[in-house]
Amino acid sequence: MKVTDLIKNSGEPFTSIEIIPPKKGFKIKALFAELEALMKYKPAFMSVTSHAHARSIELVGGKEVERIKSKRLDTNAICIAAQSRFGVEPTPHVICRGFTKDETEDVLLTLHFHGIKNVLALRGDAAPATSGTSFANEYASELVEQIQRMNQGIYLDPIDDAEKTDFCVGVAGYPEKHFEAPDFETDLKWLKHKVDCGADFIITQMFFDNSAFYKFRDEAAKIGIRVPIIPGIKPLYKKEHLESLPRIFYTNIPESVKESISRFNDPEDIYKAGIESTIAQCKDLLANGVPGIHFYSMGIAKPTSDVLNGLALANHHV
Ligand code: FAD
Repeated sequence: MKVTDLIKNSGEPFTSIEIIPPKKGFKIKALFAELEALMKYKPAFMSVTSHAHARSIELVGGKEVERIKSKRLDTNAICIAAQSRFGVEPTPHVICRGFTKDETEDVLLTLHFHGIKNVLALRGDAAPATSGTSFANEYASELVEQIQRMNQGIYLDPIDDAEKTDFCVGVAGYPEKHFEAPDFETDLKWLKHKVDCGADFIITQMFFDNSAFYKFRDEAAKIGIRVPIIPGIKPLYKKEHLESLPRIFYTNIPESVKESISRFNDPEDIYKAGIESTIAQCKDLLANGVPGIHFYSMGIAKPTSDVLNGLALANHHV
């Protein structure tokens, strides 16, 4: 089912989950065990991140040769396996950078063939391998347009009476602005542009200060963004998170949250304080009318499960 229909049909706030494909060589049994633990909470959908291939130059027979390899298990394979194994609605991430429009078209057709209804369209952060050519999408908005064209049966090359895909398209939003944007208003203007290009819902970058999210939601509404905005929440459970998450994701962790966790030294106490802080954050969001909460689980079930147990959201949604 499309995420937008799941939201419409859901009488209560829903839970959704994001996972990251494990690195190559990771035991598939272990991945399924984590997913099984998360599926107990009946997520409305499960999104799976996507990553550009790594490129390196290697010497082969004395010649320099470019080697292109993937470091992680395939996003779409995980989505398809999880769909058939657990019946969960998969939402693969599709990224611009590192892929040509033709490669993207092929991926979208494969997903459509497998009955996948939702995709999250993103630019990605890797260096653009095909930048400067007309064969790659530069911004997520162009990818959204490509997907919406395929939804009308318009492919890169003209095909008479072509199969129409039927994707519901999500995009990323940044309550604390995207790190490259000159200011909050400019970033919001580009978010509106993504919606105008056909985005059906927005999932936010992780944040820890709910007031930033409420301001973002209000300002988005003021400029005419009417699609559902789903907050993305990362459970805190390690002291390192207090330093690493703001650095990697350009987000602010309020002093009160930092203090509630950093006063402990024992990893179990830190874990407990972090999860309690995440539960409090989610309770406040739910009290303020969010349609659901998207958890950045990273494919590790326990912290997200502990937050959901604390919220008693299990089995209460969709
Ligand atoms: P865009 O919407 O294209 O925006 C990128 C920047 O350009 C912004 O600063 C924006 O203000 C600006 N901009 C947008 N359009 C224009 C325009 N037409 N002209 C000028 N400026 C413009 N990364 C991955 O590699 N894989 C993933 O699976 C992945 N999943 C994610 C999931 C979520 C929910 C989020 C929030 C992020 C995810 N990311 C992922 C990270 C994301 O790819 C990066 O944050 C990336 O830098 C921006 O992606 P975007 O889709 O928001 O880009």
